[in-house]
Amino acid sequence: MSIQENLAEIKADLPEGVTLVAVSKTKPNEAILEAYEAGQRVFGENKVQDMVQKWEALPKDIEWHMIGHLQRNKVKYMAEFVSLIHGVDSLKLLKEIDKQAQKHNRVIPCLLQMHIAEEDTKFGLDEDELKALLASAEFKQMKHVKIMGLMGMATFTDNENQVRKEFARLKSLFENLKLQLPEIRILSMGMSGDYGIAITEGSTMVRIGSSIFGARNYS
Ligand SMILES: *Cc1c(COP(=O)(O)O)cnc(C)c1O
Repeated sequence: MSIQENLAEIKADLPEGVTLVAVSKTKPNEAILEAYEAGQRVFGENKVQDMVQKWEALPKDIEWHMIGHLQRNKVKYMAEFVSLIHGVDSLKLLKEIDKQAQKHNRVIPCLLQMHIAEEDTKFGLDEDELKALLASAEFKQMKHVKIMGLMGMATFTDNENQVRKEFARLKSLFENLKLQLPEIRILSMGMSGDYGIAITEGSTMVRIGSSIFGARNYS
């Protein structure tokens, strides 16, 4: 199936109010343009350098989301244009985003990444770290970042119950956080293999790559 057909099929599956981030990492500009022609405007990348190159080459009404693990020294390259940073997992990183956003007179929307999977390879904050970050005086002083919600990745497993449990936990963290930050709106959870479950559990943003663009070739 073509990229356009894949997109149409996935979009038909998504309830109203769920945003689709087309994860275009490792894919060439032609593939992104094909999705763009089909009306897709939100794309996700996990490497800053690739995202910068694509931003420079492609139409300017594309919204670029940084979905990968982010190194502090790379923030400056995308501070001018990035629409949403999904993987914020430390106060230090948030401070750097705040600093670089200020240079461009911007407020950069961010999601805090929570660790919900069983594997310890997946990045993210635990509940105590989330609390400490939000309570810190440094966070309260930041004027150039805006926390829009939470992001998380479930364990990579065939065990649907486990995936469901992990997403349900993230949803409950999200609802709790809403009591403190009533303006948060975004719960970023669900990828090609598990977005159906994520939506049932309350996702408002899914990040889908291979089901749109085909399997990735890392070479
Ligand atoms: C690659 C990636 C995705 C998309 O994965 P697919 O399985 O191809 O849909 C989603 N989220 C993050 C953080 C990723 O790195």
